[in-house]
Amino acid sequence: MTLKIAVVGSGPAGFYTADAILRSGSECEIDIFERFPCPFGLIRFGVAPDHEKTRSVWRAFTKTLGNESVRYFGNITVGQDISVDELLLNYNAVVITVGAGKDQPLNIPGADLEGVYGSATFVNWYNGHPDEANLSPNLNTNSVVVIGAGNVAIDVARVLLKTKQEMANTDLSSHAAKIIHSSPIREVHLVARRSAAEAKFTNVELREMGDLDEADPYLDAKVLPISVEGEMSDRDRRVREKNLITLREFAEIKEYTKPKKLNFLFCAQPVEIKGTGKAEAVIFERTRIENGKAIATGNRFQVPCGIVVAATGYRSEAVPGVPFDEKNGIIPNVMGRVSEGLYVAGWVKRGPSGVIGTNKTDARETVENMLKDLMPQEKSGRKAIDVLLTERGCRVVNFADWQKIQQAEENAATGGAPRAKFVNVRDMIDVLENSN
Ligand SMILES: Cc1cc2nc3c(=O)[nH]c(=O)nc-3n(C[C@H](O)[C@H](O)[C@H](O)COP(=O)(O)OP(=O)(O)OC[C@H]3O[C@@H](n4cnc5c(N)ncnc54)[C@H](O)[C@@H]3O)c2cc1C
Repeated sequence: MTLKIAVVGSGPAGFYTADAILRSGSECEIDIFERFPCPFGLIRFGVAPDHEKTRSVWRAFTKTLGNESVRYFGNITVGQDISVDELLLNYNAVVITVGAGKDQPLNIPGADLEGVYGSATFVNWYNGHPDEANLSPNLNTNSVVVIGAGNVAIDVARVLLKTKQEMANTDLSSHAAKIIHSSPIREVHLVARRSAAEAKFTNVELREMGDLDEADPYLDAKVLPISVEGEMSDRDRRVREKNLITLREFAEIKEYTKPKKLNFLFCAQPVEIKGTGKAEAVIFERTRIENGKAIATGNRFQVPCGIVVAATGYRSEAVPGVPFDEKNGIIPNVMGRVSEGLYVAGWVKRGPSGVIGTNKTDARETVENMLKDLMPQEKSGRKAIDVLLTERGCRVVNFADWQKIQQAEENAATGGAPRAKFVNVRDMIDVLENSN
């Protein structure tokens, strides 16, 4: 019997799920449903545009799409164009891998002012995500505050500080490049609630901040802890120790020669964003770390700025027809099992943490459990789905269609960039209609 599996979402978790099923050697048909014509989730819309090597994992995922057992149903939103119940009826199993694409709200006064963005929104904008194509942030400011102490915060700071030349060969969307490279930004303040020893940057990304053409990293050596304290894995300790060494090197820079500055501020939490109609300053309160907890000290200070980007976390959205744990922002599951025939993998399974590769182990666990559970049962699979989607007038973007869109993006690239991304769905579909 051929196992018929629907995978919902074409980010890393979706592809690693498909790969794990293929590797199991089971006779199978795997259908990958994706909301957008373009696959790859955060590989396209999250990973920094100047990190093409990291993004290049799309090549491996493309091989999976080309596998004869796999079919791509792009431009199909599950829960809207087709329901999860319809998938459950027609497949032996459905694996939800829809990620965590929304911002955690920044719950402080002033967070709704113009010029305050969550990093999901802001990163989506510069990476050409169709939902944010019209964001057009006003970057006519000298000063930006980025809140957060992880790689996403570092990515945002770096993309804002790199020059046009440094970004020339990258995947930065042209609508964002125009705004960023004509902005007068001189300072990016990267502000973390906890101490430098607890920052979650990976060391390679942190060190990159010392090599920017026009921006010097700046921090006050006095704020640096002597050592990394507390219980943690050896790996985490090594990363944090390396980060302290890098930050110490930054603090020892004697002469600031570059026109722009990346200012690291640790042990400060945002309490309010001030401004008349738009963000003009962030009020921070200093914290001290006690038993691993950041305790507010009552000591406040203000950082003037015109833009605030809060890189303080992502959250998933509920998929209609699938249970959702609002508090933890995930689909409740036990090692990937949700209910009969329904499984989950990736960020929507475990929450928004972990790198691309983390989703591989995660998807493998789900697939192992799924294959243990499945009983032989004939299902109609894609035959029935084709009928339903045609009846509903849905324009499915298949793998060959996606390759045409991808080719058009590559053909339109200029100045060493890998591609010129389409930033709205209509333009992607037009490529297909115009090629017929
Ligand atoms: C800004 C940022 C930068 C990052 N940089 C790195 C990095 O440099 N290196 C690294 O290793 N990791 C990085 N990561 C982490 C990495 O991107 C994640 O681990 C990974 O993308 C999570 O995979 P996922 O498949 O769970 O979710 P996603 O990648 O978000 O994929 C989910 C997919 O589901 C689709 N979808 C959503 N809802 C529906 C629906 N209803 N119907 C159909 N499809 C739907 C979405 O459109 C999307 O394509 C970064 C993350 C972020 C946010």
